[in-house]
Amino acid sequence: METPEQILAYSALSKTARTRSGVCLHCNCNDFYLVPGTDKAICCACGLEGTISVADGAVEITYPEDQLHRVHDVLSGKELHGKDIAENEGRLAQMKKTDAYKARVAHYRDAIAPTAPSRA
Ligand SMILES: [Zn+2]
Repeated sequence: METPEQILAYSALSKTARTRSGVCLHCNCNDFYLVPGTDKAICCACGLEGTISVADGAVEITYPEDQLHRVHDVLSGKELHGKDIAENEGRLAQMKKTDAYKARVAHYRDAIAPTAPSRA
């Protein structure tokens, strides 16, 4: 259930919105994943996706209206996020059955050695 503050924040984003302050307009987080090779910025806290640009020397992130239902802290976004997790966990479970996955895990297990100093 959304808090009154979240509902107000969501309402404030009822059309294309833009931030220049470096914080997410929905959740106020200032941690974004910048998708390599694109202009996409994804809020690491709520998952809101926008495009990043520079105007007058300041970074701007613009959020289109069609992303608002995807934020992780509203019910519609929680449902989508849960489906994403279920799909990815299912994909990982299938991947773990492959020889390539088992070989990669074995490689890392053999390559990684403890680095803690011995205790005298
Ligand atoms: Zn956010």
